[in-house]
Amino acid sequence: MVWSRIKFSMLIAVGFLPAHAQSAISFTDVASKIKEVTGIPTLRVRVARALEDIKVTGTDLARTLHLSKSSKSFSGKKTVRFECSKVSRKVNSAPLLLASLGSPTGLLSVDKGQTQNKYLGKILISTSTDAQRCDVINEIDMESYLSTLLAKEMNSKWPVEALKAQAVAARTYALHKIYSKEVSKLHGSEVPFDLESSEKHQVSGGFLDETPNTRAAAMGTAGEVLVNDRGELSPVFFHAKCGGHTRLPEQVWQNSVHGYQAVEDPYCNDHGKPSWRTEISTERLEKFVNWSKDKGYFHPKRAPRAGEGIKVQDDRWSTNRLRVSYGDTTALMEKSVFRRYFGRSELRSNNFHIRYAATGDIVLEGNGHGHGVGLCQMGALEMATRGFNHKQILAHYFPKMKLVKVYQ
Ligand SMILES: [Zn+2]
Repeated sequence: MVWSRIKFSMLIAVGFLPAHAQSAISFTDVASKIKEVTGIPTLRVRVARALEDIKVTGTDLARTLHLSKSSKSFSGKKTVRFECSKVSRKVNSAPLLLASLGSPTGLLSVDKGQTQNKYLGKILISTSTDAQRCDVINEIDMESYLSTLLAKEMNSKWPVEALKAQAVAARTYALHKIYSKEVSKLHGSEVPFDLESSEKHQVSGGFLDETPNTRAAAMGTAGEVLVNDRGELSPVFFHAKCGGHTRLPEQVWQNSVHGYQAVEDPYCNDHGKPSWRTEISTERLEKFVNWSKDKGYFHPKRAPRAGEGIKVQDDRWSTNRLRVSYGDTTALMEKSVFRRYFGRSELRSNNFHIRYAATGDIVLEGNGHGHGVGLCQMGALEMATRGFNHKQILAHYFPKMKLVKVYQ
C-alpha cells in the first residue's frame, strides 16, 4: 500500500476559503424552498472531529485539494493520509474545507486512529476549531444516511413501520438543518457541514450499520417529511420514552416551535426502563434555584436568602411545572429546568413528581427516558407492534403536522 502524505500548513497560509456553494443546497427560506426540492438531497454530516491523523482508503480514489485547487486520481486500492497535527493555524478560526475524496465504487474506508468505518458517498476533510486537528465529513444522500441512522437512533430489528416513522422524523430534522443553515449560523461563519453525528443533533452510523430493514424503512418513505399548517419544515424531535405524555419544545428548551402539540401517550408504558428516582439535598437545591434565577429560567420576585428554606412541589394545574417557594416568594418553574441543571444521567426524563424524604431532601420519581418532545420511540414500537402504520404513528405524536412527499 502506498501512502500519500499531505501537509496543509503552507496551503492554509494562503487563506483561501472554499465556499459551501458547490452544495446543491443554498436555501435560506425554509418555508417556501421545500417546494424547490427536485431530487434526493445530499447532506454533509460531520462524523468525527478533532482528529490528529486520518487515513482514507478506496479503490480508484479521486482526491481534490481545495486550497490548491488540485485534483488527482489514483488507480487501484489506495490510502491517503492526513497528518492534521502538522496543520498550523489559529485556534477557533472558521473550519476550512481541505480535501474531498470519492471512489467510483461509492464506498470509502476511514481510519480515525481508534476506529475504522466504511462510508457511502464522499469523504471531506476540514480543519477543526481545535488547533492542529481535522474533522471528517461524510457527504451522503439522504436515504443512505437514514439507513445507517435508524440502526443507531432506533433499533434495526424493530417493526418496519416504527422505523419508517423514525425515518420521516429524522429526515425532517436533517432537511431543516440543511435549509435553515442553522449550524453555520450558530458557528458565526460558514461551516462545511449541515449537521453532526452526535447526541447534539442525531446519531448516524457507517455503511456496515445499515440492514435490509433500515434500508427498506428509508426507501419506503423516500421524500416524506412533516410540515406544519403553514407548509414549513419544523425541527422534528424524538426521544426514547415520554412516560405517559409528550412535551412542547418551549417546555424543555424555552423556544417555541410552531406546529407542536403535547399528547397523551398510552403506548410506551410497557417498554424500556419502568421508572427512575433521584434525591437532591437542600444544599444542592438552593444552588440550583439561584442558578435558575440567574439564567432567567424562572422569575421570582427575589433570589432566596442563604438557609431560607426552599419548598418545591408539583403545580396543581400543570404536570409540566413545579411551584418553588421561599419566604414570601412563590414562582412557577418548568420541570425541564431541573434536568438541564442536574443532567441527563441523574434525571432520565422531564416527566417526574416531587415528594419530600424524611431527611428533608427532595425525591424526584419519574417515568420515561429523554426530553419527551415529539416522537416517542417506545410508543412508536408499541403502535407498530399493534398494527398501526407509520402515518398513523406520526399522526398520533404530531397531530397538527401533515405528512408530505417533497421528492420521489
Ligand atoms: Zn411515550
